[in-house]
Amino acid sequence: MIEGFISRISGPVVLSDHMKGSRMYDVVKVGIEELNGEIIRLDGDVAVIQVYEDTSGLKIGEKVINTGTPLSVDLGPGLLSSIYDGIQRPLSLLVEKSGSFISRGISVPGIDMEKKWDFIAAKKKGDTVSGGDVLGTVKEYHIDHRILVPPQVSGTIKEIKNGSYTVREPVCILEDNTLITMLQKWPVRKGRPYRTKQDPRLPLITGQRIFDSIFPVTKGGTAMIPGGFGTGKTVAEQTLAKWSDTQIVVYIGCGERGNEMTDVLSEFPELVDPRTKMPLMQRTILIANTSNMPVAAREASIYTGITMAEYYRDMGYDVALMADSTSRWGEALREVSGRLEEMPGEEGYPAYLATRLAAFYERAGRVVCLGSDERFGSVTIVGAVSPPGGDFSEPITQNTLRITGTFWALDTNLAYRRHFPSVNWIKSYSLYLDSIQDWFVNSGFSDWKEIRDKTMYLLQKEVELQEIVQLVGPDALPESEKAILEITRMIREDFLQQSAYHEIDSFCPLEKQYWMLKVILAFYDSIGEAMNKGVALNKILKLPIKADIGRMKELKDLERIKVLIGEIDKKVAAVEVER
Ligand code: ADP
Ligand code: MG
Repeated sequence: MIEGFISRISGPVVLSDHMKGSRMYDVVKVGIEELNGEIIRLDGDVAVIQVYEDTSGLKIGEKVINTGTPLSVDLGPGLLSSIYDGIQRPLSLLVEKSGSFISRGISVPGIDMEKKWDFIAAKKKGDTVSGGDVLGTVKEYHIDHRILVPPQVSGTIKEIKNGSYTVREPVCILEDNTLITMLQKWPVRKGRPYRTKQDPRLPLITGQRIFDSIFPVTKGGTAMIPGGFGTGKTVAEQTLAKWSDTQIVVYIGCGERGNEMTDVLSEFPELVDPRTKMPLMQRTILIANTSNMPVAAREASIYTGITMAEYYRDMGYDVALMADSTSRWGEALREVSGRLEEMPGEEGYPAYLATRLAAFYERAGRVVCLGSDERFGSVTIVGAVSPPGGDFSEPITQNTLRITGTFWALDTNLAYRRHFPSVNWIKSYSLYLDSIQDWFVNSGFSDWKEIRDKTMYLLQKEVELQEIVQLVGPDALPESEKAILEITRMIREDFLQQSAYHEIDSFCPLEKQYWMLKVILAFYDSIGEAMNKGVALNKILKLPIKADIGRMKELKDLERIKVLIGEIDKKVAAVEVER
């Protein structure tokens, strides 16, 4: 065992002598209280350690013990509905053991080691298996938790039995006496292996119109939500965590205020998944490393989260990972780097910021899983970014921008006007539009891309027209352009705006989104036809059907939305030309 002594303490960073033989990322126990830490640099026999707990009270000369293992998480049944800190200590157990979330030197297992799970074998004696093969399943709530052969293991099964096991009891023994349990330890900084990565071709359906219909992200894709204070990043991340059509959700509250996490903790247990009708918490893992918790553990929290996400991906599930906010993660990186007296890069962030960010988002993707049967799984990453002052030119926003596929730019002005979600439709984009078009066509939305592009065309046109109106006033516009301004107002208010708190509108099924947009565009087309016949625009705008369009959001019954198209045609055509 390698044992050294503290030679220097600088905030969360501690130096230890006599650590020869240590490896990068080894976990160490620091000081008399055995605080958890990780080696992040080695200079000769001096180890530089980031400590995941408050270091006040540590003293020079206290011992440092190297555990010889890298920072790892416990993977196995029991993860779902758990609430962890940044290094996978269950928060409820921390509170029990120490009476506070911010306890020190406590090591508790990440999953329940005593609980028994009913294992149903999918393989039998004599079968040859290798990494990623499904040995059997246990029920983790309604999820079939597949017990996989660990990536590096292979052989012929000597013994496998149905039965009730704890995660540490072997469920399978191979001919060479390798014992396979339901517990896997995995080093968080290393992505879990898969067979191949696929092009993401399936959209992530979130029930949010501006996301699904206008700027979609794929299952296995990456999205960023940058926005200044109060623009709705947290609400957006929580909305996505609630309604995304994935089997598993990992939510990382990273460095934000504690009360935001409390919202999640109090709200989630009450919510029901609209698709499975099961409690949402049962598919969710929460990781909380709020602003009052130690800064280095915040750095680790996103790796802890993504490793768990990959674990469920490997079973063949779609997983969505939300991180709020990656800026706070970047700031943790900056603080530690500053303590190390590294050469600072832009705005004091370390020069390796871009590589770290890229390496994190690179762990997203839709993959063919390891194993002999063909399984697909995906991890989608949605990272919130909180640029100081809402200025998108700062390093975290810029570096994330280069590597993520969907950009949901939140806008302070829209938020100020209470237009929510405050996604700016001119600045935002999705690079996945072409790759998911086939899916839309095959799912009965054959003209989705057309109506989406037409909507965007109108919204862009609105910007031009508004500039003209600013200069010369609205009367200068021809009727046809006034009609565009009317329609874009309807697109904004009746389609893009969506309250996260409305009983019905907080979740809008894709089919409903599609028909809502079709109705608004049908209204535009009817106006055009009527105006060609000489009907005055203001007469059409007085039609009560306009208000019906505005109420679509609140309708549950899709048929009532679809019939509007026929009614619009009839009502608009009936408006008479004034002689
Ligand atoms: P941020 O995390 O960017 O600082 P929040 O997510 O906390 O901002 O949002 C601030 C406030 O904006 C929320 O408390 C809520 O009142 C409002 N808000 C944001 N998004 C929505 C939404 N989709 N629907 C309704 N209100 C919203
Ligand atoms: Mg927030």
